[in-house]
Amino acid sequence: MSTQQTVHLVWFRQDLRITDNLALAAACNEDDAKVIALFIATPEQWRRHSMAARQAWFIREQVVLLRRSLGEKGIPLYCLNAADFTDSVGTLVEFCEAHQVSHLFYNYQYELNERRRDAQLEQQLAGKVTCQGFDDSVLLPPGSVLTGNNEMFRVFTPFSKAFLRRLREIMPQCAPAPHARGPAISDDTPVEFDYPLQPVDTTQFPPGEKAALQKLRMFCQQRVQNYQQQRDFPAQDGTSMLSPWLATGALSPRQCFRRLLAEHPHVMEHEEGAAVWLNELIWREFYRHLLVAWPALCRHRPFIGWTDNVAWSHDKALLGAWQQGKTGYPIVDAAMRQLNSTGWMHNRLRMITASFLTKDLLIDWREGERWFMEQLLDGDFAANNGGWQWAASTGTDAAPYFRIFNPETQSTRFDVQGNFIRQWLPELSLVPASAIHNPWKWADKQGVTLDYPRPVVDHKTARLHTLAAWEAAREKM
Ligand code: FAD
Repeated sequence: MSTQQTVHLVWFRQDLRITDNLALAAACNEDDAKVIALFIATPEQWRRHSMAARQAWFIREQVVLLRRSLGEKGIPLYCLNAADFTDSVGTLVEFCEAHQVSHLFYNYQYELNERRRDAQLEQQLAGKVTCQGFDDSVLLPPGSVLTGNNEMFRVFTPFSKAFLRRLREIMPQCAPAPHARGPAISDDTPVEFDYPLQPVDTTQFPPGEKAALQKLRMFCQQRVQNYQQQRDFPAQDGTSMLSPWLATGALSPRQCFRRLLAEHPHVMEHEEGAAVWLNELIWREFYRHLLVAWPALCRHRPFIGWTDNVAWSHDKALLGAWQQGKTGYPIVDAAMRQLNSTGWMHNRLRMITASFLTKDLLIDWREGERWFMEQLLDGDFAANNGGWQWAASTGTDAAPYFRIFNPETQSTRFDVQGNFIRQWLPELSLVPASAIHNPWKWADKQGVTLDYPRPVVDHKTARLHTLAAWEAAREKM
């Protein structure tokens, strides 16, 4: 009598890699099981999330590479399209029936809709397919790093300390890539998404896990030791630029942690540079843990509720000037043009541009959050929402509302010679370094006309206006 072979299905979502993929590793644990894989594109949902066309392109390229890597191991990857989440549940249920799937493996996503979708799916498959989820996109599962009162931290520094203590106990390991499970499969059918796709510069952002691992190794071997000194200067190559792969799951935080530890064994004892970089990875974790503790964040609610009383401006012309990099503040404009042209922006500049939109222009942080998502190759709901709420002073551990970045001072400190500004604003190429942070002051003195906008607001006046708006909002508390 022949017994039916069990069929293990791995549903790939934001985990587009075969190395250190917890769901894939678990599915391949049983030697006799047949392993198949699935990716479902959900264009309607992507539209609702304002996913950038360049991120959709990056994902598509990585799905093609993933299919090739899985194929070499004898695992077929099926690629389907579903309109939205509800549809993706139906698509998956049908797929399980058609392929006689016995076990479903997937890695958790922590956004509210995604969690609801998974709960709905598990309900529909109950009794037919055994489902198993994994905390793969984090070093430590949300809910596992809590205060003494068993609550999620609201402030980053104590979270980070508690996180490091727990990390030392657990020391997460990478899961092995699967062994070949059968003859290699080659599938060259085009992977098509019903979504706009915008290619990016592949010398800077080559898709796929192999490229990500190579970049990670180089960074940890050659650059992380200078991270602390260089990370705030956008004209320098001071940060890893690994965010696009982390955001799409072509790279895992465990791989980052383990590579860092391999190159810098004393990182857990606060080794300079390496420990500061690890702390950035912990910021990434903090925002993911927060989404699970406060799901209202997923509905774009401010963490500090009363901040919705702020009388945000809806000035379309000012918003447009910010979006297009035409505010007359060179550091802001150079940063926005870098974002619009490459899909990536340096962290210091994300803070400066977000502060400018929400504090100098008093425009609702959700406008900025959306624009960033529409442009970013590394768009990541948790990090983007967390970053925007931090800058707008509406979030956990946010900058207090009265601490308002002065864009000119920031520019003078972090782009001293104006090299970053000149790279993105060729119209200022002839302005001397001493005048680059406020070129009109210089131009007016020299009697020169610049082909560059005058500042759309005066920072000092805007600051006072914003402080008054916040104080009025506080009174309505
Ligand atoms: P590195 O400095 O090399 O850091 C390594 C990794 O740690 C990053 O790749 C990222 O995954 C993580 N990380 C670093 N800083 C942060 C942070 N402050 N918060 C969360 N994770 C962090 N990051 C995104 O990945 N996607 C976003 O959509 C996003 N939107 C942001 C919006 C605003 C307004 C702000 C202020 C920050 C945002 N960030 C976002 C965080 C940060 O700016 C980027 O992660 C970082 O610039 C990516 O460059 P890197 O890979 O060279 O970072």
